[in-house]
Amino acid sequence: MTGIDDLPIRDELRGKSPYGAPQLDVPVRLNTNENPYPLPEALVARIAERVTEAARHLNRYPDRDAVELRTRLADYLSRTAGHFVDHRQVWAANGSNEVLQQLLQAFGGPGRTALGFEPSYSMHALLARGTGTGWLSGPRDDDFTIDTEAAVRTIAEHRPDVVFVCSPNNPTGTAVSEETVLALHDAAQAARPEHGALVVVDEAYGEFSHHPSLLPLIEGRPRLVLSRTMSKAFGAAGLRLGYLAAAPAVVDAVQLVRLPYHLSAVTQATALAALEHTDTLLGYVAQLKTERDRLVSELRALGCEVTDSDANFVQFGRFDGAAGSHAVWKALLEHGVLVRDNGVPGRLRVTAGTPEENDAFLDAVRAVLKELK
Ligand code: PMP
Repeated sequence: MTGIDDLPIRDELRGKSPYGAPQLDVPVRLNTNENPYPLPEALVARIAERVTEAARHLNRYPDRDAVELRTRLADYLSRTAGHFVDHRQVWAANGSNEVLQQLLQAFGGPGRTALGFEPSYSMHALLARGTGTGWLSGPRDDDFTIDTEAAVRTIAEHRPDVVFVCSPNNPTGTAVSEETVLALHDAAQAARPEHGALVVVDEAYGEFSHHPSLLPLIEGRPRLVLSRTMSKAFGAAGLRLGYLAAAPAVVDAVQLVRLPYHLSAVTQATALAALEHTDTLLGYVAQLKTERDRLVSELRALGCEVTDSDANFVQFGRFDGAAGSHAVWKALLEHGVLVRDNGVPGRLRVTAGTPEENDAFLDAVRAVLKELK
C-alpha cells in the first residue's frame, strides 16, 4: 500500500500527524473548549427560517463579500468590545483558524517568519508550517505570563514578519495586558522599519475574560489585528465562523488570498440568525465565567496548582512531568471524564462545562488524586 511518505509530499509535512483532540464518546467531554449549552430552541427555529430562505437561492453563489454578516459582526463588536468598528474593518471566514491562515497567506509565506509565545495555541505554528512560513517559539515565564522585556528582546533579535499574541491564551488561560501588547507591537514595528510587522491578537476566548477586549488598540495601529470566533462565546463551534477586526487595508489584503465565495450562503444565514440572539448567548457566557471561577477555586482547594484563567477553561496540575499528567488524564477518562493533555509537562486543561459536568469532573479529580497517591 502506498503511504504518505511514498508520495511527492512537501518535506516539511513528512512524518507529521494532523491536528486534533480525540473525539471519544464519554459521558463528560471537557476537552475542546466548546460551550456546553446547546443553542436555544428559539434560535434553532430562526436558523431554520433563515437557512430555508437561503436555500431558495442556492443556485447562485453567496454574497462573496458577506457584507450583511460583516456589518452585524461590526455592530456586535462595537456594542460589546469598547470600540466602534464598521464592516470595512471586519472580515469573516470559516472559523478563526481560516482567518489566521488567510493572514499568514497574505503576510507570511516562504522566506518570512511568525513568532508565538509558547505554550500557546498550537495551530499558530501549524498554520505557519502549512503556509511555508518559518516558526519562531518565544518564551513565557514559569507562571505562563509573557515577560515583556524578554519578549521585546526576542522580537528585536529575530525580526518576525508576524507576531501572535493569544489573549486569553490557550491552553494556559492567561490574559495579556494592554501594556504588553503595545510593547510587543512597537518592538515589532521598530524591528522592521520598512513596512512594519503584523501583530495578531487571537482573542478566541475574549468574551470570557475578566478584562476588557483589546479591540480599542487597533485604533491608529494599522498592523494590529484582532481575531475572534463564534465557536466559543456564541456556542456555535459547529457553525465554523471566525472573524477579524483591523484597519480596512488588512481586510483588503486578506481578500487577495481568500477563496472566492468561501463563506457559504448557509453559513452566512446561520451566523446572522445567531447574531440576532446575542444577548441570550452572552447570558450563557456569564454562567460559564462563574463556573470557570468555581473550577479554579475548587481545584485549588483540592491542592492542585491552578493557572489564573480568563478563558472558558482552566489549566491545572502540577503532576509529575509529562508521564504524570498523562497518567492523570487516563485515570480521569476511566472515570468517564475527558480533559485535554496539551503536552505542557505536568499540566492538564479542563473546559468549563455545565454545573453538573463540572461536579462530575471535580468528583473524578478527587477520586483520582486518592488513587494515585
Ligand atoms: N484560536 C484559539 C486560541 C483557539 O483555541 C481556537 C480553537 N480551539 C481557535 C483560534 C480556532 O477556533 P475556530 O476555528 O473554531 O474559530
